[in-house]
Amino acid sequence: MVDELGSRFAAAGHEIALVGGPVRDILLGRGSKDLDFASSARPDAVERLLAGWADHVWDIGKAFGTIGCRKGDWILEITTYRSESYDPTSRKPEVAYGDNLQGDLARRDFAMNAMAVLLPSHEFVDPYGGIEDVANKVIRTPGSPEDSFSDDPLRMMRAARFAAQLGFTPDPGVVAAMTAMAERITIVSAERVRDELIKLVCAPYPRIGLDLLVSTGLADHVLPELPALRLELDEHHRHKDVYEHSLIVLEQAIDLESRIGAEEPDFVLRFAALIHDIGKPKTRRFEGAGKVTFHHHDVVGAKLAKKRMKALRFSNEQIDQVGKLVELHLRFHGYGTGEWTDSAVRRYVRDAGDLLSRLHVLTRADCTTRNRRKAEALRSAYDDLEKRIEQLQEQEELDSLRPDLDGNQIMELLAIGPGRDVGEAYKFLMELRMDEGPLGEDAAKEKLLAWWSSRP
Ligand code: ATP
Ligand code: MG
Repeated sequence: MVDELGSRFAAAGHEIALVGGPVRDILLGRGSKDLDFASSARPDAVERLLAGWADHVWDIGKAFGTIGCRKGDWILEITTYRSESYDPTSRKPEVAYGDNLQGDLARRDFAMNAMAVLLPSHEFVDPYGGIEDVANKVIRTPGSPEDSFSDDPLRMMRAARFAAQLGFTPDPGVVAAMTAMAERITIVSAERVRDELIKLVCAPYPRIGLDLLVSTGLADHVLPELPALRLELDEHHRHKDVYEHSLIVLEQAIDLESRIGAEEPDFVLRFAALIHDIGKPKTRRFEGAGKVTFHHHDVVGAKLAKKRMKALRFSNEQIDQVGKLVELHLRFHGYGTGEWTDSAVRRYVRDAGDLLSRLHVLTRADCTTRNRRKAEALRSAYDDLEKRIEQLQEQEELDSLRPDLDGNQIMELLAIGPGRDVGEAYKFLMELRMDEGPLGEDAAKEKLLAWWSSRP
């Protein structure tokens, strides 16, 4: 398929090469259906050459020189050679077309991403020793890391992201530049930072990337609540800090991720696991006798989580979801060995809503005690809760929890028209439903009338 494409471009007098991620991934033995190409042809010419060959062609960003197409199962992106120059004071790269592959590779972020295979000749082009880097599992910039990160500070985030995705180690010079230049990340748009953070958190080894963000100081700018977790739990420095706990909870959540039934890594679950305790630094109190408390760190944490995610331009849905999980992560404590009433179980289900399966995983993951007996007791208590939820759900179809009477029935019974009273009556019936389960129409009417006549 790629040779066909190469011949088509060559026949029209253009150069085209497979570049970047796919070349790196092939060397790593990882295939992908997404292929990136660079070409001497300008976007209009690329569009013409693809028409009649690809199954479908679209414009990804003609202004940036990228045309996309589908050929069978393959998704191709073809970008005209660039020799990008960045204005260090601006957030947006300036695009200038280049006329050769070498120049195009020179502007790329890392040596491992600056390899190409010319088509259809299969000539391997690797000006910066990317193949050695892949073999040695290291992340290096083509030129000096300082120049590279000056051109585009986002590359510092990308170094951490690739470390998390590939398990590679950034070269000491790269780490030094990240540390010295961390503050420069603040000129990059929140959206670009967010997208790299999502990829990092959804990678196979997020701990590696997160540790890099924290140790270089990048996290102080993009997610300051994370390094703030490195606090002592007691005045005697005996316990591990909350930061390490959070990383373990994240890893345990990843181990349990298949339980939520998603095929892909779940950002909301992972991010909630990482930051579920971000309310702790603000709420820590030493109570004397070596005792430390974090009252309401769930509520405070949910607020902080939402604020940070808003600043990072996450979608409202993601903000609400993570906020809710953080807020609910402690609720299960108090379940003990099954002390909750049915009503408390119903409220748990209602409050979690469609986040219930994620909350199950988060709560189970949030147990990092080394005390085997304690861990086992928590696990079996949670098994018990899940079983009770299942039983209640079967009985009552909790998913569509509604009062026993609807608005029309309420108005008819009380002989009132639409208005505040109907809403209050509905709320009363909903509370009743929550406390006592389904009552049936007659009993509900009786209770509603009693409530109505007891009102002033
Ligand atoms: P993946 O698609 O799996 O996330 P990738 O290596 O393809 O990994 P992309 O973000 O898709 O990464 O970028 C494609 C290629 O473009 C990279 O391999 C790299 O060569 C180049 N690139 C992307 N972003 C930058 C950047 N900020 N600075 C320099 N080069 C970049
Ligand atoms: Mg890519």
